[in-house]
Amino acid sequence: MPQKLDVAYFTMEIGLSSEIPTFAGGLGVLAADMMRGAADIGTNVACVTGCWRYGYLHQNLRPDGTQNYEEISWDPSKKLKKLPQTVTVKVEGRDVTVGCWQLDLQGAKRSVPIYFLDTNIPENNPEDRDITKNLYGGDVGMRIKQEIVLGIGGVRMLRALGYDRINNFHLNEGHCSFLTLELLRERGFKDEDVRPSCAFTTHTPIKAGHDIFPYDLAWRIAGDQLPWHIKKLAGEDTLSMTQLAMTLSHDTFGVSRVHGMVSQRLLNNPRVGYITNGVHHLEWTSPEMRGLFDRYVPGWRGHPHLLHEHCRELPDDELWGAHQAAKKRLIDAVNAQGKVHFDPDRLTIVTARRIVPYKRPELLYTNLQRLREVAQGKLQIIHAGNAHPHDAFSQGVIRHIIERSGELKDAVNIAYLPNYNPDLAKLLVSGADVWLNTPTRLQEASGTSGMKACLNGVLNLSTLDGWWVEGYEMDPEAGWRIGPLAEALPTDEDTRKTDAEDLYTQLQYEVIPEYGYPKRERWIRRMKRAVGLMGTFNAQRCVEEYQAKAWTNA
Ligand SMILES: *Cc1c(COP(=O)(O)O)cnc(C)c1O
Repeated sequence: MPQKLDVAYFTMEIGLSSEIPTFAGGLGVLAADMMRGAADIGTNVACVTGCWRYGYLHQNLRPDGTQNYEEISWDPSKKLKKLPQTVTVKVEGRDVTVGCWQLDLQGAKRSVPIYFLDTNIPENNPEDRDITKNLYGGDVGMRIKQEIVLGIGGVRMLRALGYDRINNFHLNEGHCSFLTLELLRERGFKDEDVRPSCAFTTHTPIKAGHDIFPYDLAWRIAGDQLPWHIKKLAGEDTLSMTQLAMTLSHDTFGVSRVHGMVSQRLLNNPRVGYITNGVHHLEWTSPEMRGLFDRYVPGWRGHPHLLHEHCRELPDDELWGAHQAAKKRLIDAVNAQGKVHFDPDRLTIVTARRIVPYKRPELLYTNLQRLREVAQGKLQIIHAGNAHPHDAFSQGVIRHIIERSGELKDAVNIAYLPNYNPDLAKLLVSGADVWLNTPTRLQEASGTSGMKACLNGVLNLSTLDGWWVEGYEMDPEAGWRIGPLAEALPTDEDTRKTDAEDLYTQLQYEVIPEYGYPKRERWIRRMKRAVGLMGTFNAQRCVEEYQAKAWTNA
C-alpha cells in the first residue's frame, strides 16, 4: 500500500533504552528524544537506523580504576518485530541483502516507526553478516560498508516498505550522507532535485568526529554507487561525509548557538545555522517530580512549555520533598556499593558523561589542597562515565579520578558508579543537587545531560559552552557558570588552571553557602528557575523548530 512520510530521519545510532544497546552516547540518546517529541506532537516521521548487536558495552571497574568491558548481548527478536521485506546494496561488487526490524514508539499523538537495518541474515556470507555487528567497530572499510547499508539500504528499505512519497530526508550527522546518492540515482542525478528534500545536522566541533574516506578505498567498496561527480559533491582529495551532506542539503544546522558559529568556521560554510537540542520531558523527570508537576503544572505532559510559566507556583516544601526522594534513591545506590557512606543531607555534586579529553571530568582535582579547603566535609561527589575501549588516555583519566578519591578520603567522599547508561543517567540527573559540567570551551556541541538535570530541579554548574550559553543567558539564576562570559570566549589557550580556580571559587562562595542556609530559600528559588528553563530546552520545542526551519519541503 503506498504511504506518505513528511520526514525520514536517518541516524547511525538511537538510544531508546538500556535494553536496546544500538547506541554509543549522546547522539543516539538525542535521536530517541527527538522521535519521542515528534510522536507527541504528531509529526509524520519514520526513523532509519542500524540493528547493531554491540553498541554501547557494559563497563566494570576494578578497585584501581581500570575499566574492562563486557559485551551486552541482546536479542532483537525479543524487542523488535521482524519485517518480511529485504533490499540489496553493493559492497565490493557483491550483493548484500539488508533486512529490517521495526519498533513502534508511541507518543501522545502518534506512533513513530523505528526501522533497524540488519545484514545478519542467512542470505549473506559470514563477512557481510557482520556489517551490522559492531556500531563504529572495525576499520575504515567496515565504516564505509556500514554507511552504505544505512544510507543507500535505508532509502531502498523505505521504498520497499511502501513509502513512495517522502518529503524530507533528515541526516542526523554525516554517517547517513550516502542516502543522498540513492536519491540522486532516483532523480536522474540532478543535484537540484535532491537538495530541496534534504536537511543536515552536524553534531561535533571535533575534527576527528567527521568521517573522511580515501577515494580509492571508497571506490573499491562502493563501486558505481558513487556517482561520476562525487568529488564535486564530497571534496577533491578525500570523500568527506560532512561535505557531501552539506552539498546536497538545503540547510545545515549545529545543535546550539555557539556550535552553529563554531561549525561555520570549522566547515568553512557561513550558512550553517543552528537548532538547539532538547530532551524529552517525560523520559527524564523522576516519578516524584512528575507527580509534583501533575499537581501544579496541569497540562505539562502535553505542553512542556508550561513549565516556564508555572515553575514559580511549585511549593517550596513539596519541591524539596520530591527532590530529596529522588536523591535518596541515588544515595542508596552509592551506599549499596559498600565502599563509601554518603549522607542524603549533604550537598552532592554529580559529573557523569562519556569520558573524552575535552569534557575534563578530572578538572575538580587540579588543586587538591584548594579542594580540601573548599570541601571541609560539606561536599560529596559522584562520577560516572565510560571511556571508549580503544581510548587509553581516557581510561587513564578514570584511574586518575579513582586514585584522587583515595587521597581525598579524609576530606571529601567520592564515588565512581560504573556503567553509565540511560538507566543510571536517570538516577543521577534526578538525584544530584548540582550537575557539574566542565568542557573545554567551544568543544561541547550542545550537551543534553544538563537539561535532564534542570527537569529535576538540579542546578547546573558549568563552563559556558554548548546549550548552557543559552540557558545561563536566559536565566542566570538557574545555576552557575565557571569561567568567563560567552563574549570573552577564549579559543585556543589552555584555560584549565583558570577554570579550575573559578570552579573552586564558585563552590566556596556561592554553591556551598547557598546550600548551607537553614531554609535554603535561595537554593529552592534557583531550582524553580532551572525547571523553568525546560519550558524551552525540551524535545518538543526542538522538533517544532526543525519542522519550521528544516523539514519545509511539502
Ligand atoms: C543524556 C546522555 C548522554 C549525553 O549527555 P551529554 O551531556 O551530552 O554528555 C550520554 N549518555 C547517556 C547515557 C545519556 O543519558
